[in-house]
Amino acid sequence: MRPFAYQRVTDAQAAVAALGERPDAMYLGGGTNLVDLMRLGVVSPDALVDVTRVASGTIEDTAGGGLLIGAGVRNSDLAAHPTVRRRYPMLAEAVLSGASGQIRNMATVGGNLLQRTRCSYFQDVSKPCNKRQPGSGCPAVEGDHRNLAIIGHSTACVATHPSDMAVALAALGATVHVEGRNGARQVPMPGLHRLPGDEPDRDTVLEPGDLITAVELPALPFTTRSKYRKVRDRASFAFAVVSVAVALDMSDGVVRDCRIALGGIAHVPWRAELAEEALRGAPATAAEFARAADAELAQARPLPENGFKVPLARNVLIRTLTDLVETP
Ligand SMILES: Cc1cc2nc3c(=O)[nH]c(=O)nc-3n(C[C@H](O)[C@H](O)[C@H](O)COP(=O)(O)OP(=O)(O)OC[C@H]3O[C@@H](n4cnc5c(N)ncnc54)[C@H](O)[C@@H]3O)c2cc1C
Ligand code: SF4
Repeated sequence: MRPFAYQRVTDAQAAVAALGERPDAMYLGGGTNLVDLMRLGVVSPDALVDVTRVASGTIEDTAGGGLLIGAGVRNSDLAAHPTVRRRYPMLAEAVLSGASGQIRNMATVGGNLLQRTRCSYFQDVSKPCNKRQPGSGCPAVEGDHRNLAIIGHSTACVATHPSDMAVALAALGATVHVEGRNGARQVPMPGLHRLPGDEPDRDTVLEPGDLITAVELPALPFTTRSKYRKVRDRASFAFAVVSVAVALDMSDGVVRDCRIALGGIAHVPWRAELAEEALRGAPATAAEFARAADAELAQARPLPENGFKVPLARNVLIRTLTDLVETP
């Protein structure tokens, strides 16, 4: 491993300035992804700027009725927070379905959003990978892609985004607060993560040195009726094969509004806008849920070994919507 310096900063501007001075430096959250990637030789920063004391570790109500979650909030604290559990249950469920208790105790909101893909070629420096080394090729297209993307991928990269939390945030339409070299700005979700196109090395729209300081949830009363369902290869801990985050607003058996996002199927947490559109104003029945799932998944272009994800995503979405109808 390349020797690296360690620096702890206590405010956002100092963090951004520290990275400005050292272009090879990286921010350090809980370190549960970054340190693994350093050990594997996937990334080799010359300095780590510890931002766990900068990025606020608090969760506060906003004037607009939403919630402001500091980027330094640990995943365990987010999942356990009473307001999150009551008003945004799918977010608490998504966070709890990820990793293990020990990792969630360390992992931060900012780091979770920016964790890298789990594509095995990306993590193996002896293999080519366009995301790790632009222009070197994508062995996953012809090789092991069982758990990779079925939608929105390119010939340059078929990786999936790994975060469960980000799927719930995309469904909720969260806003990411960022401090950068030109000051503070906000980035909507979906919109933080990007599809691979011909630049798969860029996971997000963030610029070098950008620091995530907080994530804001909107006030959406119907998110109390929401759910996250994750299908994975083993129950103890594993990344999603397919996952679904859904919030449902119903009246007299009719869907008034909904929010839907899918995980494990794309390079981004995939907001299912076509399914949402198909459901608004429709009867809350299994047949309509199937129609909505089909509307979304008609865009899927599975690879030879992951076609099973299309019916899996369809069934998980229908099941989750049906569960929500039955939720009092
Ligand atoms: C065994 C194992 C199983 C896992 N299973 C799952 C799973 O099922 N689902 C799931 O969602 N996740 C899973 N994870 C991933 C885990 O959730 C992430 O490792 C964790 O959320 C990353 O957060 P962190 O604070 O440790 O980030 P770090 O490792 O510290 O950082 C990750 C990246 O974010 C950058 N960064 C950190 N904070 C900021 C900030 N405030 N602003 C800008 N950049 C920042 C870092 O520079 C780095 O590039 C698993 C991890 C392990 C090791
Ligand atoms: S799918 Fe993406 S991350 Fe995986 S090998 Fe191809 S380029 Fe690399």
